[in-house]
Amino acid sequence: MKRFKRAISVLVAAATAFSLLIPAGAQAQKRDCYPIVFVAGIGGYGESEAMNKIFPVWGMMAGSVAKYLNSQGYEAGTASVGPFSGSWDRACELYAHITGSRVDYGAAHAAEHSHARYGLDYAKPLVPDWGTQRKIHLVAHSFGGATIRLLAQLCAEGSAAERAATPKAELSPLFSGKLGGNIVSITTVAAPHNGTTALLPGVKGVVLNLVEFGLYCVSALNVLVPFVAMLYPFHLDARQINEHVTVLSVAQGIIRTEAGTDHARYDLAVDGAAELNESLSIQKDIYYFSWAGNKTRKGLTGGRVAKPLAFTEQQKAVIRLLCEGLSQQGIAEKLGLKVTGVKSHLQLIYKKLDVSVGVEAVIKIKELNLLD
Ligand SMILES: [Zn+2]
Repeated sequence: MKRFKRAISVLVAAATAFSLLIPAGAQAQKRDCYPIVFVAGIGGYGESEAMNKIFPVWGMMAGSVAKYLNSQGYEAGTASVGPFSGSWDRACELYAHITGSRVDYGAAHAAEHSHARYGLDYAKPLVPDWGTQRKIHLVAHSFGGATIRLLAQLCAEGSAAERAATPKAELSPLFSGKLGGNIVSITTVAAPHNGTTALLPGVKGVVLNLVEFGLYCVSALNVLVPFVAMLYPFHLDARQINEHVTVLSVAQGIIRTEAGTDHARYDLAVDGAAELNESLSIQKDIYYFSWAGNKTRKGLTGGRVAKPLAFTEQQKAVIRLLCEGLSQQGIAEKLGLKVTGVKSHLQLIYKKLDVSVGVEAVIKIKELNLLD
């Protein structure tokens, strides 16, 4: 739940940040700006999914960020990619959605990972006429960061393995290496570029285990119940069920590491992320921005969660006097408080700082420049 709340906070903050960039009362005239494409992280969805109309993944409680930007004259949309698919599949799906084409995962990739080469057919392009005259800005949350970095790499350099495995006439433009220069900027929000340890068996807590079990069930329902696939599709079109491929193995392929490397969980782990990073290079014609939290603490689920270090004015006054070396009695006299009141403030301050005594608090306050 903490992680969920954190995700919501990050997205609401992103929505707020975008709204702050636009002057109040701005007219809805068309802006002279390249289109903005949002890409969700793990479990996320896009504007092709019915879920996005009910609860937009980019904006959530604050309303759809893309729609807000549209109302202000900006061209923006939210891409639909597999919520638990691996980076490669997601990058191919993102390309297909932006261009309005059928997903081509590549002949070499499909053969290596035993799924169909072609997937969903995106009838409507997210960005019509995307090309060197009409570039895009990519903005991604969490695991979407790996998706857009890989897309940028494929646009610029394509894939030598796919070129070798596919006749020229059948090759997807994405693997040709001739799409460089089509992306202006890449912005990631809370993206685990170096992977996360949160999903390791010894680290994750009960809540994450339950969430994982829930996802396992939903992925199976995606295959079995058309309504679920319509509401919240897992983009399993390339993974047909037959005598060799069971519902269970599809669910395992999406969620579990032991069933190969072609899924989000592998790419999200530290080793998988390192492998991906080794294959990616920074594109010189793209502006890269990465927004990250600057402090975490251990959460109830066993993972790390954002640690807001906000203090009240009174707490700040107590902190200043504490750092000047005053005793609790001295602080109380200076601020006109009772000693018990100072003790209460200090307890809350220690809790926020994750320390147990005043000396530790002073060291940490100075380390974090909290008095500046
Ligand atoms: Zn794949």
